[in-house]
Amino acid sequence: MTWFSEKLEALRSSGNLRQLPEMKHQGRYSVTGGRRMLNLSSNDYLGLATDPEMLLMRDFMQEAGRSCAGGVPEDCLLGSSSSRLLTGTFDVHSALEHTLCRLSGRQAALVFGSGYHMNAGILPAVVDASSVILSDKLVHASIIDGIRLSSARSVRFRHQDMGQLEELVKKYSMECSRIIIVTESIFSMDGDLADLRFLAGLKKRYPGVMLYVDEAHAVGVRGETGMGLAQELGVMQDIDFLCGTFGKAIASVGAYVLCDSEIREYLVNRMRPLIFSTALPPLNVLWTLRVMENLPAMDHRRERLAANSLYLRKSLASLGVVCPSGSHIIPVMAGDSRRAVEMADFMQRHGFYLLPIRPPTVPEGTARLRVSLTAAVTDREVAGLAAALEEVLHGHPAGK
Ligand SMILES: *Cc1c(COP(=O)(O)O)cnc(C)c1O
Repeated sequence: MTWFSEKLEALRSSGNLRQLPEMKHQGRYSVTGGRRMLNLSSNDYLGLATDPEMLLMRDFMQEAGRSCAGGVPEDCLLGSSSSRLLTGTFDVHSALEHTLCRLSGRQAALVFGSGYHMNAGILPAVVDASSVILSDKLVHASIIDGIRLSSARSVRFRHQDMGQLEELVKKYSMECSRIIIVTESIFSMDGDLADLRFLAGLKKRYPGVMLYVDEAHAVGVRGETGMGLAQELGVMQDIDFLCGTFGKAIASVGAYVLCDSEIREYLVNRMRPLIFSTALPPLNVLWTLRVMENLPAMDHRRERLAANSLYLRKSLASLGVVCPSGSHIIPVMAGDSRRAVEMADFMQRHGFYLLPIRPPTVPEGTARLRVSLTAAVTDREVAGLAAALEEVLHGHPAGK
């Protein structure tokens, strides 16, 4: 046995071996293994990426087609050909950053190639050895990588434990010149909401504290104009690094941070994944810009998503299932990885494309199904989903 086959065998026998799923995409459906299933595993929360009418997308394509008639204009290029710091910054990158500032009321915005780049890059750039990073135990892997790459001390607090966090802030206020608190706003695997108002209050009480909030799952979905949970809770101006991504509800790719101008200027000089990676293609940024401009008018989609989410959370509660979620991300716990695989298999045979979420994505012993609802799911579908989950939870023998 080679080193690799041994490692793979260990993964296989613990039910944790992963493969890249092969499938066809038909709008809201995924087709795989001869089965057509409602896709409940994507992050297309507003249903924008799979909209059967594709109005926004079609308008966009026409706009791009028209402007290409007399030669491709710079904003329609499919490659940026260099880093933002060389020749990779186009008018459309600046226009998107300007729009992000307008939508948020913040001084500055900076756009990145992906959320992974953003989280792996900002933290290492903005701390030094006299800083401490206090992060929620369940933050995304990309944030953990950012912490690992940084020279700061790092302490992880128990998930959402604000009491423990405040104790840590008190302690490190004495020892460290700077404290950065890092959290997600809607947690990606539990769907629960961070207490951003408490964090904003904490920052006011302890002057050395800065806040870093990743809104990957809340952008588009929450807040008056879809700018996220910080907007909904009225604390958008209090967060030093307000981060979001375009790959989920925004139906595009890339990420951004909203911050003060001085911090933006500093990041441009010090953030390695910004400096040493090719800028997003202009045409892609133009699409992101169109979606962001239309985001405030997408209340209807946000309301549909909220209604679907409330329905499913209530259904699970009525079955006595404890679920931390306060959002459209709804975990259904399995515990053991093999059990999660069985449950996913059952749901797939009933037409719902759910995947088992296993360690290391989630802590050992908390394997689960992660239901990721979208605004495109109908009332009937969400009722059918609730019924199928009831069956799988009540120890149905999973069709054996
Ligand atoms: C998806 C995700 C990311 C990564 O964003 P990409 O743009 O897909 O690289 C970062 N943070 C969180 C919380 C995420 O869920």
